[in-house]
Amino acid sequence: MISSTDNSRHSRAPIRLQQADDAPATRAAVAFAPPDEARSISCVIPCFNEGPNLRRLLPLLEDILWATRLRWEIIVVDDGSTDDTVAVAEAWCELSGFRCISLSRNFGKEAALTAGLAAATGDAVVLLDGDLQHSPELIHTMIAQWVAGAEVVYAVREQRSDESRFKQLGSRLFYSLVNASDRFAVPRDAGDFRLMDRKVVDALMSLPERSRFMKGLYAWVGFRAVALPYTPAPRAEGASSFNTRRLVGLAIDGLTAFTTWPLRVVSVVGLMLAVPAFAYGAFVAVDYLLFGNSVSGWTTIVASLMFFIGIQMISTGIVGEYIARIYEEVKGRPLYVVRRERGTGLETGRT
Ligand code: UDP
Ligand code: MG
Repeated sequence: MISSTDNSRHSRAPIRLQQADDAPATRAAVAFAPPDEARSISCVIPCFNEGPNLRRLLPLLEDILWATRLRWEIIVVDDGSTDDTVAVAEAWCELSGFRCISLSRNFGKEAALTAGLAAATGDAVVLLDGDLQHSPELIHTMIAQWVAGAEVVYAVREQRSDESRFKQLGSRLFYSLVNASDRFAVPRDAGDFRLMDRKVVDALMSLPERSRFMKGLYAWVGFRAVALPYTPAPRAEGASSFNTRRLVGLAIDGLTAFTTWPLRVVSVVGLMLAVPAFAYGAFVAVDYLLFGNSVSGWTTIVASLMFFIGIQMISTGIVGEYIARIYEEVKGRPLYVVRRERGTGLETGRT
């Protein structure tokens, strides 16, 4: 149930802005928004064990959405949380505008985002994390840009000083690999915190693949995008779910979903090794047959054998990664399973 402090929300009190420094952005949103136009906006929040954070985020977000004077809905997607995330979110669903979709288990952030996008009914959809790292105050500026004509407004991290050197290096390597060959680039410092127009959401949802590396899919669909620099706040409560193992898994998903050049590299490396090896073999055979020089150097043979076996295994591994993705796609399982849905759709911010 909603706590006593939460009950004050039932009154739909007039809007207070949380921080003085958002005021200019708010004014911009209101000035740009044609008051009579019934635009609507959905906010999708993927959540995995974010109970304490949701208690802070939902009232903040509600105030911010009221201030936009648009019709709005907030969709919490519970990604198999084991804490009180569902209880907190469903308590808010007693108010109109709030919805909660509970998935049957933890399917991962990308699947949770997809579930939220599929359920969203707004003319624009904002994606934001449930841990208050994506400051909801930025939504005003996003809406202002959208009303002014942008189809995508994405937040770009201004600096990554909060990340370890290892993570920064890994992310630089990943983006240079994933952007090595394609006609579109996945921007390095842009994440899931973004506003997308309905056209963009429909385009995203029309992509049939199961391997959903969202950052790549956003870039692939294109549209007129505006970047919005921001500095992510530290996580409010709890710890990030993305440890090194999960990040490496995500990077491999991204690479296999958006590149095929590693397969070509395998062929080229194979060729570059096989041709000289064949030539050398021919030379040794001729040398022995014509001049009687027998081959010596057991160590060299063993070392080169191990080297070539290593290359072969890496190559098979790379091919295997692609085959695994094909297998995933062919199975055609749904991306997520919904346990239950609560709440009703759009609230009107002008009543
Ligand atoms: N999340 C999710 N499913 C998962 C892992 C994370 O829905 O399996 C959500 C999480 O609750 C948060 C967002 O995705 O709202 C970002 O996760 P996190 O803060 O752990 O990642 P980071 O900020 O380190 O990228
Ligand atoms: Mg986070």
